[in-house]
Amino acid sequence: MLDLESCDVKYLTGVGPARAALLASELEVHTLKDLLYTFPYKYIDRSRIFQIREVDGSMPYIQLRGRIQSFEQRGEGPRKRLVAFFSDGTGVAELVWFQGAKYIVDRYRPGVEYVVFGKPTMYQGRVNISHPEIDPEASLNLAEMGMQPYYNTTERMKRAGLNSAAIRKLVANLLSLIVEPLPETLPDWLVAKEHLMPLTQALKSIHNPQTPMELRLAQARLKYEELFYVQLNLARYQSDRSRRFRGFPFPRIGEKFNSFYKEKLPFSLTEAQKRVLKEIRADVGSGRQMNRLLQGDVGSGKTIVALMAMLMAIDNGYQACIMAPTEILSEQHYANISSYLDGLGLRVELLTGSIKGKRRQTILEGLADGSVNILVSTHAVLEDPVQFARFGMAVIDEQHRFGVAQRARLWKKSDNPPHILVMTATPIPRTLAMTLYGDLDVSVIDELPPGRKPIRTSHHYSESMTGVYAFLDRVLSEGRQAYIVYPLIEESEKIDLKNLEEGYAFITERFPQYEVSKVHGRMKPSEKDAEMQRFKRGETRIMVATTVIEVGVDVPNASVMIIEEAHRFGLSQLHQLRGRVGRGAEQSFCMLVTPGQIGDDTRHRIEIMTSTCDGFEIAEADLKLRGPGDLEGTQQSGIAFDLKLANLARDGQLIGHVRGVAREIIESDPTLSSHQNLLLAKVLAKLKKSPFDWSSIS
Ligand code: ADP
Ligand code: MG
Repeated sequence: MLDLESCDVKYLTGVGPARAALLASELEVHTLKDLLYTFPYKYIDRSRIFQIREVDGSMPYIQLRGRIQSFEQRGEGPRKRLVAFFSDGTGVAELVWFQGAKYIVDRYRPGVEYVVFGKPTMYQGRVNISHPEIDPEASLNLAEMGMQPYYNTTERMKRAGLNSAAIRKLVANLLSLIVEPLPETLPDWLVAKEHLMPLTQALKSIHNPQTPMELRLAQARLKYEELFYVQLNLARYQSDRSRRFRGFPFPRIGEKFNSFYKEKLPFSLTEAQKRVLKEIRADVGSGRQMNRLLQGDVGSGKTIVALMAMLMAIDNGYQACIMAPTEILSEQHYANISSYLDGLGLRVELLTGSIKGKRRQTILEGLADGSVNILVSTHAVLEDPVQFARFGMAVIDEQHRFGVAQRARLWKKSDNPPHILVMTATPIPRTLAMTLYGDLDVSVIDELPPGRKPIRTSHHYSESMTGVYAFLDRVLSEGRQAYIVYPLIEESEKIDLKNLEEGYAFITERFPQYEVSKVHGRMKPSEKDAEMQRFKRGETRIMVATTVIEVGVDVPNASVMIIEEAHRFGLSQLHQLRGRVGRGAEQSFCMLVTPGQIGDDTRHRIEIMTSTCDGFEIAEADLKLRGPGDLEGTQQSGIAFDLKLANLARDGQLIGHVRGVAREIIESDPTLSSHQNLLLAKVLAKLKKSPFDWSSIS
């Protein structure tokens, strides 16, 4: 039988050494199998001509037949465009070009019949197609065209004549070689149960669908497979782990938890906080080891949940630790937790890199002999000499700041790993979380404590800041504090720091009556912390900073956040930054500053920011705008992986479904050794050898 995986693509009719080299360097296509799995990125149903009056903006690609009535130049500057009025007798569509007007006008004539295709949008009630492809009607044989696949190619490939149509021919040659079915990659029982298209047919159909329905079924099958194996792998990893490690059972809700709840808790918990506590309680009571991701927007009250989870450990005779990514954050946690627990007779200690000598020794001893109940720490806790007597619960705050490797070290702190609660204020859309942290259970606090006023967000141009500074005058004179943030990215670090310095100089001059802090990532951590503390104590009233302040610092008196060069931040980052204000009872404000000239993308991002404060809504929008590969956490884990068809932003439902199927399979056959699951084990084993190490996600 033809072995697609080992057969070099150069042996395929129509390829040869030169094209093979191009395919390899440009598309990573080396073998016949690689070519077979190079799927079209779009299809145009060219068997069908639409009438202009039936077109709406939701259609993907359409084909129209008609004549150009006239051309017109419209707009100015970047909006300058050529419009052709195209009529088919049922209506008029506008064909729009932002470039190449001269070429278009020279090439296409009014009155001649053309077939036009492209993506329609509705603009002021009219069908618009920008940069359509146009063919003289006479040159097309519609009956033969069907659903036409389009393949991605590069400039180099096109120059060598290897365009989409050429690839289409190569793929056709390849498909003609496949006379027997290829080995299935999903077990028959699953294919049948899920009504999936068999593999061979799906591969043929995806390259050469006759109808949109056939295409959908083919894509659905291949997409299913992609997502299914990701989830199956995660499910098996999770199950391996839970079989290998028993969790410490915490059967009791005991004295400390109850007295804290009844006597100390200064407010009533939100429903969301209660729900999450129940979820944690169920985990730690189950005898399994908890691995839970707690997502909650900035200010949603994750700390108190973490604290109460730690009390569960203490009531059952264990120690707990909460780890934060910076010294200032751990100091803040330490101060809060100590005051919450005051009078409960618990020993809470702070261990950071700057705590040294005798003091450090005492804490280490207290951990080793079990007398320290709660340790608040930075990653200093990961260092080897830190040993607990009975380490039962680890909370990791702002987890996206911790690398996978650092988290893994936590496990090694005791023979049996503690229960782990990771907390993040970077809302990760569910679909992404299910893939990125598929082996973690996810809890969400989706409700802010009562009485919070949503932060008012506005957009300003850097060319006209007078109003912004006048506003700042007023807020400062009322005793409040303000942040002014500048971007800092490594590639342009020098320019960025210059911007920050200039901004600082300007602000000190403009607001001579106030002390101003300056913080950036180039400073030593101790200097940074000292400056943050000054601001926190209110000694300085304005904080000019780069994004180092992004993570959880709590200064309730700060009510204004000005973000300079907001166009250079991603949505999630803007949201995180904004979360630094709005922590007190005052109305808070976030002012996004951009140059007057900004692109549509930026404008869209800014509009999202000014219209909502909901972190999840923003994260979803971010995922749609940027794609999963750019989201925080995805680069780090390398998970901007080879999903060819599935889209984490759009396929949420399917991901949820296959996750359920995968978990069921693993539950009933954890080692995939039953006869009907042998194929699954085989495919997974192969996956494991692929460059991306799935087991590293946790
Ligand atoms: P984050 O989730 O960003 O870590 P925190 O835990 O720091 O949020 O909580 C933010 C603020 O909200 C804290 O001052 C905390 O005391 C307060 N808070 C938390 N839960 C509640 C609640 N249920 N009711 C009122 N205030 C709360
Ligand atoms: Mg926090």
